[in-house]
This record gives sequence, C-alpha cells and structure tokens, in this order.
Amino acid sequence: MDKIPEKLIDLIEKSDSLVLLSHKNSDGDSLGSVIALERVLSKIGKHIYVPAPVVFPQRYSFMHKYSNGWGNVPDKIDALLAVDCSTADRIDWGDFEKPDNVPFANIDHHDGNNNFGDINWVNPSAPAAGTMVYKLIRSLDAPIDKETASSLYVAIMTDTGRFSFNNTNSDALKIAGELVEFGAEPKFLTTNIYFNFSEGYLRNIGIALFNSRSFHRGRILFLTLDRAAMLSFSTSPEDSEGIIDFAMSVRNVDVAALFKEIAPNNIRVSFRSRRGINIAKVAEYFDGGGHPNAAGCTILSNLVMAQTAVLENIRKLLGYR
Ligand code: 5GP
Ligand code: MN
Repeated sequence: MDKIPEKLIDLIEKSDSLVLLSHKNSDGDSLGSVIALERVLSKIGKHIYVPAPVVFPQRYSFMHKYSNGWGNVPDKIDALLAVDCSTADRIDWGDFEKPDNVPFANIDHHDGNNNFGDINWVNPSAPAAGTMVYKLIRSLDAPIDKETASSLYVAIMTDTGRFSFNNTNSDALKIAGELVEFGAEPKFLTTNIYFNFSEGYLRNIGIALFNSRSFHRGRILFLTLDRAAMLSFSTSPEDSEGIIDFAMSVRNVDVAALFKEIAPNNIRVSFRSRRGINIAKVAEYFDGGGHPNAAGCTILSNLVMAQTAVLENIRKLLGYR
C-alpha cells in the first residue's frame, strides 16, 4: 500500500507526545527512519521520545547525536509509532514498558508484517522504511534539515545494500537524490558506515571466512562466528553486520547463512538468498522472519545442531534430497 492512511496523518496531527520505536538489533533503516521522524516531528512542535535501544550499534554511532529524544519516556503519551518492525515481538522497547490503551501505528515494508497496530501502513514494495518515512514527512509538509536527510539516506542506502539489492528501484534512487539535495553527503555517510571497521570487525571477517563451508556444489554457503574463536580473538558477535554479504559475493551461491554463537546454545542466524528463493520461509520455521531474500532467526541449541537443522530446511526449500 503506497498511500499513507488518513488515520496515520490524523493520529500524528492530533497527538502532542509520541513514542517512536525501532526494532531489536536495530539496523540503519530502523534507526535512520526513527531519528528522521523524531527530528521532524519535534520541529513541528511535538514531544517525541525514543526508548534507548538496548544496544546502540557502533556502526551508526555517528548518528547518536542526531537525536535528542533517547530515553526518559514520560507516563502520559498520546501515540506509539513502530517503524520497520514486522511483528510486535521485533520491537525494541528498551527500558520502556508498553502502555495500554495508547493508539499504536505500524509503519513497515516487510512482506510478512502481521498488521499488529491499530493503524497499519505496510508497503512491501517500499525499498526501505526510510522511503515511507520520507513520503510521510513530505506529506506533513515538515522541514528536512541536513541531519534528517542524512538519517534517511542511511536508512535507504543500508537496506538496499548500497543501492545494489533487488529492492533498489527508482524510488530508492530518486529519494536518495532528493536527500542529497537536502544536504545528505554520500561520501561522508558511506565512509562512516562501510569504511570504518574496528579491528574486531576485521578479525570477525577473518573468523567467519575461515569457517566457511559449502554444500551442494557451492550453492549453499555457511559462515560461522563461533564463541571459541571470538573469545580467543577478543571480538564481539555484534560486530558483524554485513559479513554475510561476503558469502553472497561468491560465485554460484544461491543461499548463504551466517551463524553467530552469541552464547552457548544461543545461535543467531542471518540468511541471504537470490531472487526467487524465499529464505524467509526457513527463518520462519525457526520463529524468525524477514524478507524473501534477507531474513534471520535465533535458534536455542548448540552450533552443530543449529547448522544441521538449518541445512536440512534449506535443502527442503530448494527441493534437494
Ligand atoms: P539481518 O541478517 O540483517 O540481521 O536481518 C535480515 C532481515 O531479517 C532484516 O530485515 C530483519 O528484518 C529480518 N530479521 C532478522 N532477524 C529476525 C528475527 O529474529 N525475526 C524476524 N521476524 N525477522 C528478523
Ligand atoms: Mn528495513
């Protein structure tokens, strides 16, 4: 649904204090969209609060100062807006507890969104939540400053894999162009996010690539960040966003998975697939979700069992026996 629901505009217009929510393990799209909305809605006189994310991702730390709203959510609020969350379970509430009887709006672009809000604006053809938020901001006729433009540029750039995934449509490119006119600097933002590795990230790349295993003549590729290696190289499993893309750059790979052993018996899995292979089905089997070509889940078992179960599921999906 491309059209912004009237009810969403009405809710924003009549609310004085609003809470904006991003998803757990927030990424560039959810963070950028939430920060942009916060800035714009504050400028048009609203009181905006954003529960501090449980972990503020290091990669986006330069955006922290674009926001004034982290934490300190008051008791009385008029509306909740979740952005880029496919289900209510995905929401990062931080240390804020969901209040009852407050209108809840759901702004998202995931195909599997279950319309958990009182108002749902779900557009799976949007390349990023950031493009939806951009349209919302334009329709409110609100000012877009350099930091807002930068946040939305980050949202769109990261969710489209630097304008390369198959969700990269003319909207993504057009809006990115307009954001540049509003002051976003592609070089500055790209450098901060993609060419700003920590040494730990570099080592994690090493661990993951060293632990690569392929199946079915290279059509399926697994990368693994195991605890033993991460402990011995003093790296953190959070410091790994984008490592899965190395697997998808390998010739003939149709499905890739990155396994991160967060703790014993707690395995976080990121999936990627090529067009036509709906890998979200595998993630959903393990109570996760995502998009057809990018999905994730958490499996509470040991690494070997998780990998065996995932491989089995991917084989079924691809029709291999
Ligand atoms: P990533 O591999 O980048 O962490 O996640 C890829 C996509 O899958 C993201 O767009 C995210 O929305 C979705 N995703 C990742 N983990 C989960 C999960 O545990 N549950 C659900 N529902 N979606 C997830
Ligand atoms: Mn997104």
